[in-house]
Amino acid sequence: MRLDLRDVRSPSHAVERAFPASALGSDEAFTVAAPVALTLDVRKDGDKYSLLGRLSTTVRRECCRCLEPFDVPTTVDIDVRYLPHRVNTGEGEYEIADEDLSIAFYRDDEIDLGGLVREQLHLAAPMKPLCEDGCRGLCPVCGANRNREACACDTAWRDPRFEALRSFRRTTGDEGPARKV
Ligand SMILES: [Zn+2]
Ligand SMILES: [Zn+2]
Repeated sequence: MRLDLRDVRSPSHAVERAFPASALGSDEAFTVAAPVALTLDVRKDGDKYSLLGRLSTTVRRECCRCLEPFDVPTTVDIDVRYLPHRVNTGEGEYEIADEDLSIAFYRDDEIDLGGLVREQLHLAAPMKPLCEDGCRGLCPVCGANRNREACACDTAWRDPRFEALRSFRRTTGDEGPARKV
């Protein structure tokens, strides 16, 4: 899963790779569920390289409402510049803002394509993945998946101001002896 930069001899170098899903492993955010196809045009400019292209695969995510896993066919356009690692640690030759996500570093004449794929899938990940827009989530009372079953729990919204009044009644009212003040 490495790109040997010594193989990049022309200004524009085509790369096509396929990785098995197992090569990418899983992550707290997602699991790669299908082989990854990676197509790149590698452009060399001195010791800097631009990688342009796309990757496609299927990613398994967990729905943020119902917690069920679901598969998302995913295609990500890639546009990343790689600089030699030393310029990041040297005399401040380049000032690179942390938030500039299109800059990466290579060392030992190699680019870690697996790291590139993982990073790109992270950037493409939604903050709140949903199995479907209308996912009804889990019942907050019994935990049933409301996409699959209708439970009989009372989940009607209660005005919190009345909730405060109710608990006041519970502590002072007829459900037990009044508290001594
Ligand atoms: Zn869901
Ligand atoms: Zn319920």
